[in-house]
Amino acid sequence: MLGRILIIMALVGLGLWLLRKAMGSRTPPPSSGSGDQAKLIACAHCGARLPATEAVWKEGQSYCSMTHRNLGPKS
Ligand SMILES: [Zn+2]
Repeated sequence: MLGRILIIMALVGLGLWLLRKAMGSRTPPPSSGSGDQAKLIACAHCGARLPATEAVWKEGQSYCSMTHRNLGPKS
């Protein structure tokens, strides 16, 4: 009877340890500061610099707005 209680306690302890380990690994590592958000690209039409995340893309070219995307690259 006492042996069974010890086994249950050991299993509960192991379960809690695994749960804490799984939750700990889920937290993202501290960012180095230089992410993709800081990356600036130039509009193919007017040359305006803007974050890549805000750019409008068409056929591999980046644009600052839908208007310039429709106008296409400046030749
Ligand atoms: Zn533009």
